[in-house]
Amino acid sequence: YNLPKCKNVTSRVLMLLGQLERMNGEAMVRDVEMARQVTAKILHLIQTQEKSGKEVMSKGSSGMEVILASLEVRFMQLYWLFFVLGRGRRVGVFVSKGGTGILFQILITASKELPPSEELMLQLHSLLAKVGPKDRKFGVKARLSGALNVTVNLMKQNIQNIKLLLPCLQVLRVYSTNSVNAISLGKNGVVELMFKIVAPYSKKNTSLLKVALDALGALLKSKTNARRAVDGGHVPILLAVYLDWHRNDTRHRHMLIRKGLLVCLRNITNIKLGRKAFVEADGMRVLYNSSTECLPVRTLDPLINTSSLIMRKCFPKNRLPLPTIKSAFHYQLPHVPAVGPVAQLYSQPPGVDDVVDESDDNEETDADTENDTENEEDEKDQRSNDDIETDLNKLHPKKNPGRPFEELRVYERFFLELSEDFQVSILSSSQSTRPIIVPTAQALSPKHVSVPSSQEDCNPTKGKHTLPHIQSPLLLGGIATRRVGGGGSNWGSDCGSEGTEDEGGEGAVLEVPDTALLLPMHDPDLYVEMVKGTNSVPQYAEVAYPDYFGHVAPTFREPLVERVYGVQRSKIFQDIERLIHPNDILDKVVYDLDIPSCPVIEDSGESLKFNSQFESGNLRKAVQVRKYEYDLVLNSDINSNHYHQWFYFEVSGMRVGSTYRFNIINCEKSNSQFNYGMQVLMYSVQEAISGRPRWVRTGTDICYYKNHFARSSIAAGGQKGKSYYTMTFSTNFSHKDDVCYFAYHYPYTYSTLKMHLSKLEALRTPQIYLRQDVLCETLGGNGCPLLTITAMPESNSNDHICQFRNRPLIFLSARVHPGETNASWVMKGTLEFLMGTSPLAASLREAYIFKIVPMLNPDGVINGNHRCSLSGEDLNRQWQNPNPELHPTIYHTKSLLQYLAHIQRAPLVFCDYHGHSRKKNVFMYGCSVKETVWQSNISATSSDLQEDLGYRALPKILSQIAPAFSMASCSFVVERSKESTARVVVWREIGVQRSYTMESTLCGCDQGKYKGLQIGTRELEEMGAQFCVALLRLKRLTGLRNHQHLLDLESDIIGTQSKVVSSSPTTYVMEEDEPSFLEAIDYSAESNDEDAEPENEHARAANSRHRRSLT
Ligand SMILES: [Zn+2]
Repeated sequence: YNLPKCKNVTSRVLMLLGQLERMNGEAMVRDVEMARQVTAKILHLIQTQEKSGKEVMSKGSSGMEVILASLEVRFMQLYWLFFVLGRGRRVGVFVSKGGTGILFQILITASKELPPSEELMLQLHSLLAKVGPKDRKFGVKARLSGALNVTVNLMKQNIQNIKLLLPCLQVLRVYSTNSVNAISLGKNGVVELMFKIVAPYSKKNTSLLKVALDALGALLKSKTNARRAVDGGHVPILLAVYLDWHRNDTRHRHMLIRKGLLVCLRNITNIKLGRKAFVEADGMRVLYNSSTECLPVRTLDPLINTSSLIMRKCFPKNRLPLPTIKSAFHYQLPHVPAVGPVAQLYSQPPGVDDVVDESDDNEETDADTENDTENEEDEKDQRSNDDIETDLNKLHPKKNPGRPFEELRVYERFFLELSEDFQVSILSSSQSTRPIIVPTAQALSPKHVSVPSSQEDCNPTKGKHTLPHIQSPLLLGGIATRRVGGGGSNWGSDCGSEGTEDEGGEGAVLEVPDTALLLPMHDPDLYVEMVKGTNSVPQYAEVAYPDYFGHVAPTFREPLVERVYGVQRSKIFQDIERLIHPNDILDKVVYDLDIPSCPVIEDSGESLKFNSQFESGNLRKAVQVRKYEYDLVLNSDINSNHYHQWFYFEVSGMRVGSTYRFNIINCEKSNSQFNYGMQVLMYSVQEAISGRPRWVRTGTDICYYKNHFARSSIAAGGQKGKSYYTMTFSTNFSHKDDVCYFAYHYPYTYSTLKMHLSKLEALRTPQIYLRQDVLCETLGGNGCPLLTITAMPESNSNDHICQFRNRPLIFLSARVHPGETNASWVMKGTLEFLMGTSPLAASLREAYIFKIVPMLNPDGVINGNHRCSLSGEDLNRQWQNPNPELHPTIYHTKSLLQYLAHIQRAPLVFCDYHGHSRKKNVFMYGCSVKETVWQSNISATSSDLQEDLGYRALPKILSQIAPAFSMASCSFVVERSKESTARVVVWREIGVQRSYTMESTLCGCDQGKYKGLQIGTRELEEMGAQFCVALLRLKRLTGLRNHQHLLDLESDIIGTQSKVVSSSPTTYVMEEDEPSFLEAIDYSAESNDEDAEPENEHARAANSRHRRSLT
């Protein structure tokens, strides 16, 4: 076309349209034939002159309106509309100009003719089928106009008339996507009608069947309709039809029909009756077998995924193999809090089964309600939005005087450096202070293990001594003090299975490396000494080898593992096989803390041996499921019935060359970094005694998914029908006669801390001021160490002592959450840097006084808890009102800070080290009024927003110097749910502007120098050291007389950050440690649903969706 011609045509069409418009407008049209001719001319031109047609029918032009008006007054033949609408591109304009409503009007009018014209009905439904998918209100318009019944009646009368039925079904498919329509159509017998169309394999009418199944699938989303299908006996029929198509559609040409059948089953099994009918119809076996046959054909993945989803839903819920979900160990509290989870636990009547709910029969009414899973993610977002603190009064830090100064005065003894005059002896400063005794806590501390003082008999020795054989367990004093009967103390001594006698047997002599060379800050003998003074609730008398030998970070890289395609599916299929082939399942208990003779002694060599009765261990039960597969159950935190995440246990008796699968079956989080590249940690004693004492990342086929073990409402915070999650991994063992350990993250016990503190003492030089006090005793009778590190005054001259006393304070703490062992490794890095000889370290000591509580929750760490202290509470939610008896470490740490506030010496920086299980990198949470206001919609006056930006300086510096640190992951929003955390309370009540939580990933990094690698202890310790370096830079910034430089830096920070903040409502997070998951790919049961894309695609889509919201 050339332009002039096109212009001519366009103007001609416009002229004709004008003519038509005038005719439409006239009430009585004299010449209908004339109007029709004009319309015909227009349509012809539009059809033949594509470009002009496009122009006059565009949204901005009135052409479509004229056509619609003409349609309304019936000048236009209906079938012409097909040409107007073309191949769909003008449908949108048609819809936006109200075309749908006109079509429905014509349909209603036409339906009143008796009998209605079949030709007209055919045309109308074909047009509606074209328009429907483009009109979001289609369903509502259809219902309100009365069109639903017209279509339904037409279908009922023409069930054999394929030509008419097809467009009707296409329209019905759109009607049914509206949930109100679905219910109404169901009442009208449409479900039954659809089942009349569903048929076994045939090459005829496949498109009709496909559309009918789509419509049926949509109808069955309504629970009432699903129930109708069950009551009508259609579940076995659907299964039989599915199987028929599965067998006959050998060339996979009718995937969509097969998928449609599965979608119907999937929706029916959303109701309990549906699941029952499915199981009774042997659905598990039918879908399991058919899926297994589909496995080799990749294009059939959508069928396998949907089948797998249905099977998982219908899989009978199992009971966890436990007598109770309460911790296997009991610790009597001095008093029980009046409210909260612990109070609930204590008020639970005896005899109540807390493992599974008695019955959830009445739970599901099978009535139509909002469906429960689909919007979970939105709700989560909504909740975290709701969580932002919007009370401006709470956002303005108000120093809280706390306790009266007379009471706080006792804490003076922990701040000798503030009054010390160094006149007597400069070295006397190192004497330690006795702990503050909280009488109740002390009186109730458990009895010490009576540990024989002599250990010459058994303890493996280092250096040139030899270890005749790996003993498991390694015992304090060589006697298993708490074990009675059964296997005796050296049950592990013949841990090798068949054929290992020659190499690992009695005569073998194994060199134990001198760990002092590899690990200058570790001493096995000292470690054992420390263990003797550690009080555990189970009164452990064993020492785990990794803690004894220590850990040297490997020199090789440990990349995040790529997720293997189909891992979750194959694991789930193996789980389903338990039901399909029950005779293959051994179900043999090999370890059980709930029975007195634990561990279960069995020497046939057919099973692995488990143990975790040592500090920080927490395996409760191990069940051998198949020859090389074990289900593992973790113990709950003491005085709690949940928090299963951390694990640490020992395995022996393995065969070399076999792949073992381990399943931790009572995990609770809905997702895990184990789905995103994280591996478990393994420690081999054989490797250790060969000179490689180290934890290494290990495990293949790692996957985390919702399983078939029911979670009681007691365990799920009142929610019924919840399940646990499985964390599964497979591994091989490379040594015979080995004793191996598995852990969630690099263990770091309380005894390790004590040993480390003792080794730090040895690093003291005359220039270093180091004082180690015991702040208080824990409930469990363990001391809570408090360190003071600074530089000695240059001399005892007045000036120097004045400088010494007036150094700003830095207050650090860690490990309030026992499962976050990475926090201890970061703290180790900080402590060693501070005690180091580098000029930086010396300047740092001269610049500040460091007050450090390296382990806020010793009892939790010792007893293998994940989250809580012995009181069964999260100590990082007790800062607002800590109880001196139940939360002594928090109570006294807060008191130290209150004391400092009273004497006008509040710290410059407060930082509590944590670990993060769901995010990558290292990052900080801080507190900012301004950023909180930005994130919420509260209106604030500009005076409310006056805020010094100093809180951003430290994380900004860290992002420049610490490779693992990511500024983009930081957040400075104050959340309501965090109001009793250390960070918020120290900010609000003590008035520390730079009050932080520093979170270190348990997984790895996705930016910086360590991008793509899992995090190791070297990187964590480096982070701790870099934190110190950053403090030195902060000192330079804050010390500048002219603050211009600082302001520059900070305006630079704001410049780059404000963009992020304004467009990213999700940078702030929900819980201190577990904010909403950034890589929100749901690998749980609801996930591998619906869509044909393989798992990776899902992941990518979800990732990109999130990235969009984050950047
Ligand atoms: Zn934490």
